[in-house]
Amino acid sequence: MRKQKKAINKEKKKAIDSPKCGLCGKRKKLTKTACCDQWICDDEDQYVLFSYAANSCYRNHRRYTLCGYHYTEEHSGDWKTCPKCKEDIKTEMYVYYGTNEYNFEKLENPPDYEPTRCSKCNSIIILGEDGYSVQGDKYFCAKCNPLVFRK
Ligand SMILES: [Zn+2]
Ligand SMILES: [Zn+2]
Ligand SMILES: [Zn+2]
Ligand SMILES: [Zn+2]
Repeated sequence: MRKQKKAINKEKKKAIDSPKCGLCGKRKKLTKTACCDQWICDDEDQYVLFSYAANSCYRNHRRYTLCGYHYTEEHSGDWKTCPKCKEDIKTEMYVYYGTNEYNFEKLENPPDYEPTRCSKCNSIIILGEDGYSVQGDKYFCAKCNPLVFRK
């Protein structure tokens, strides 16, 4: 008897659950993403003010995901099956953009790719995380190019 009541309460609670950011779970100051209509922190202004904290859910989703890219570039259809996104973005970044923590939905079968190597020292550069620079089709790691902008 008691158990049953609890279950019903739970269901009711779920139905009236207030929206929360799909990325970090905060419930304050939310907006919806233009690209995929998901609840997300309305924190872009905050980002500009405190620009050292690279922590804007809204901005991260728009700038560092395929979903955001796909929308910004005005491609049609679903980003997960979009041939243009795949073509436009280097595969390693394509996979990063499609599977990082700024996604609500992740790419299910990310394609394989050859790791990017520094043209000078041949060490592997993780494009989504490491600092690097590009000259033509050559990549240089942060060690080989001291001018690399570090994220
Ligand atoms: Zn958030
Ligand atoms: Zn989106
Ligand atoms: Zn696309
Ligand atoms: Zn190097």
